[in-house]
Amino acid sequence: MAWQGSTRRGRLPRNWPQLRRLVLRRDKGVCQAPFSDGSICGREATDVDHIEPGDDHSLTNLRALCHWCHARKSSSEGGTAAALTRVRMDKPKPTHPALED
Ligand SMILES: [Zn+2]
Repeated sequence: MAWQGSTRRGRLPRNWPQLRRLVLRRDKGVCQAPFSDGSICGREATDVDHIEPGDDHSLTNLRALCHWCHARKSSSEGGTAAALTRVRMDKPKPTHPALED
């Protein structure tokens, strides 16, 4: 199996390929990442993400994400001190009060 290796975050179930396909279909192949304004990303989803990281592989804990959002989320979850440091240095912008009327 291609993904075998001890460094991978979490453990994927045997039926992951099927689960993944189900989630992508349920979410219509569209990235479900929420934006702060309440909309969703809406890009073409290529990845399936665990909303709560861990071993909960139920469909309610899975969602489709585009590559970009998944990479962003994975890096903020971190796994290594280096990743955490990097995220802290690269803070997300707070929402812009200036954008409001
Ligand atoms: Zn996205």
